[in-house]
Amino acid sequence: AQERYASIREKPALTLCGKTIRLDMNAGLMADLPSLENSGAEGVGLFRTELQFLVRNQMPRRTELAALYARVLDAAKGKRVVFRTLDIGSDKVLPYMTPQDEPNPALGWRAIRVGLDKPGVMRMQLQALLRAANGRSLTIMFPFIAQYDEYTQARAEVDKAIAREIKLGHAIPESLEIGAMLETPSLAFACKKFYEEVDFLSIGGNDLKQFFFAADRENERVRRRYDTLNVSYLTFLENIVDRCASTNTRVSFCGEDAGRPVEALCMAAIGLHSLSMRPASIGPVKHLLRRCNLDDVRNVIHTARDAGEQSVRPAVMEYLRGLS
Ligand code: PEP
Ligand code: MG
Repeated sequence: AQERYASIREKPALTLCGKTIRLDMNAGLMADLPSLENSGAEGVGLFRTELQFLVRNQMPRRTELAALYARVLDAAKGKRVVFRTLDIGSDKVLPYMTPQDEPNPALGWRAIRVGLDKPGVMRMQLQALLRAANGRSLTIMFPFIAQYDEYTQARAEVDKAIAREIKLGHAIPESLEIGAMLETPSLAFACKKFYEEVDFLSIGGNDLKQFFFAADRENERVRRRYDTLNVSYLTFLENIVDRCASTNTRVSFCGEDAGRPVEALCMAAIGLHSLSMRPASIGPVKHLLRRCNLDDVRNVIHTARDAGEQSVRPAVMEYLRGLS
């Protein structure tokens, strides 16, 4: 499949209306790194650090993690890598941690909630990231931030880690960005101050969609029930994008839907100009974006919405059939 899109690999995802959409790749294992070269990704928009923890049978050490993260940054050769701190709990259980008996794991003690309540592992991970960067630029993202103070507390951990590194005489990053994943509807309505303070937001559509429709992403019976191009959901995403525009907040989307060409096109049309996806999706998404006019697609979406359609998919498919 990569071969098929080789001719556009080095080309930008430039639409017919002249917008360039940034396409990054999602990664998590060392085996993903070669894709940075051959997929045409601009960088790594989501590095799922928990995968390194999940493939082991004991807690990795700080030095080991620092070496791994340094290899990731070396392979990226200056391209931006967004390291997401440990996102465990819910569907991702570490074999060497006490399992939690929770009635609703997806709504339970997971991700940043674990990181803030038991900060030992997160501190070790932050230190490993700072050591790996060793003076280079560093981008850190916290998963599952549901309210403002979770972000401020997580950010304070980074400040503490940096202070410790300075005290030890180690290099600190030449530039540092600290972002949050928007995965719960609550964060869409957080105060303006949060939007101004956060360095960037990345919409985790896999989780956001399951909470928006109250439909478990792990449950085969319901997970495909609600269309991503459902008007309620698209309008919700559009509102987030508009808020970000009004506060000048950098925003991207990194859920699986970013790698589905028609979904990606609609997200770009409502103003999401930065998408992160599995490497194999970059070619197909770019191919479609380069054939489309986002202003036209946005009109199609709004017309379908105003006409009372439940999903804009039929209208968008109709538009796509009309492309030469
Ligand atoms: C998401 O929720 O969309 C996301 C990217 O995170 P994960 O799939 O790892 O939960
Ligand atoms: Mg998630």
